[in-house]
Amino acid sequence: MRLLFIVLFALSFVSCNNEKALVYDLVICCTEIYNVEKGIFETGTVCINKDTIARISLRNEEYEFGYKQLIDGDGKYLLPGFWDNHVHFRGGNELIKQNEAFLKQYIKYGITTVRDAGGDLTPLIQQWNQEIQNNQRVGPTIYTSGPKLDGPNARWEGSIPVANDKDISTALDSLQSLNVDYVKLYDSTLSRKHYLDIIAEAQERSMITSGHMPFTVELNEAINAGLDNVEHLYYILKGCSSKEKEITQQIIAGELGFWDSMSQLITTYDEDTAQATFKRLKDQNVFVTPTLHIGDILSYLDELDHTNDRYLSHLSDTFIKTFEGRNKRALTATNKAKQDRKDLQKFFVKLTASLYKADVGLLAGSDCGAYNSYVYPGPSLHKELQQMVQAGLAPQEALQTSFGNGPRFLQKDMYGLKSGATADLVLLEKNPLEDIKNTMSIQLTIKNGKIYKLKSL
Ligand SMILES: [Zn+2]
Repeated sequence: MRLLFIVLFALSFVSCNNEKALVYDLVICCTEIYNVEKGIFETGTVCINKDTIARISLRNEEYEFGYKQLIDGDGKYLLPGFWDNHVHFRGGNELIKQNEAFLKQYIKYGITTVRDAGGDLTPLIQQWNQEIQNNQRVGPTIYTSGPKLDGPNARWEGSIPVANDKDISTALDSLQSLNVDYVKLYDSTLSRKHYLDIIAEAQERSMITSGHMPFTVELNEAINAGLDNVEHLYYILKGCSSKEKEITQQIIAGELGFWDSMSQLITTYDEDTAQATFKRLKDQNVFVTPTLHIGDILSYLDELDHTNDRYLSHLSDTFIKTFEGRNKRALTATNKAKQDRKDLQKFFVKLTASLYKADVGLLAGSDCGAYNSYVYPGPSLHKELQQMVQAGLAPQEALQTSFGNGPRFLQKDMYGLKSGATADLVLLEKNPLEDIKNTMSIQLTIKNGKIYKLKSL
């Protein structure tokens, strides 16, 4: 290995210290470094050894060190790698190759960590993740829930059914033996009682929980049981209605369905109820993953033609075929249903802003993966950030919902742009605080200390 030794001087010409000069594996010099806590950029230099940030020197500090590899970051913007906090690896054996191909796409789009929210490829993606950590494979770190927990004859392939009380400990035992990172609950057939009991037992086992929520359950009940993250906003909307109890009873009695309840929930949205719910979410540290971008795509499937989307060239025909179900449902819906869906989406955008104002922790997640039409692994996270800004968050607040709150929710403290953190970084050409779309101006991604240039991917 060729060892270059260059002494970098800070702008201030104060007398040199006597400390022996260090040699780092990788130095990114003279760049704009994102301060995650303050939400600002500060000029300085980041030094990396192996897969860890060893040191951050700001402009006015005096420093002197060598490097094996140097990136000139002058005029560029260095941030922690992005997190997509809701993706899916799924689709069975037929789609393994396609799911595998997404790993590189994430790195290409600056995403160094993804949270897999349940699928049918658990052992395989855990193997991929291990290879990624060993630098034998290019891809993001994958945190996974493993199979979803649902009721009998569940909607999604690979879900673990909970049909009686005994099944709960069996299901959680099997997730623990799989060594999953959290528990994902789904609501296609899971009973009210089992849903609440799963959360309570997971809580006792110190497992993190996240999920949809059967509409037979009131949001407060889920929060009180210990739910840690609410995926999608339907369930938040439910908890903001002054008539939640009555609507829940109608659902339990089979007099009202999930989609039919939406317009009632919107008309009975009550500001005092909403604020009390937001406060409970905040006080109990419950995160919310709004998934606005997919909501936007699905709400306008009847109007927007995606057949010329450039990303489609990265997808196999078999993968694209999985979009058909949602596409068909959108096109054959009644005019009223089509309009309701759009109104609901507009409401969710406002709801996201209200949640943020109430200081509830939000997570940027795209929900990309098989079956989720035109929500593309990689770019969709950037679209989600853009949606957050459109909803009213400042760019630095939107960024926080990706690489700030992602690790907080999963209780991982080794991430960020700080010394001692994992060297997962992204170098941008343009300032994302000026325009959130600039998160897409990726020059290179650094994953576990290794550099990936866009062209090589
Ligand atoms: Zn999902």
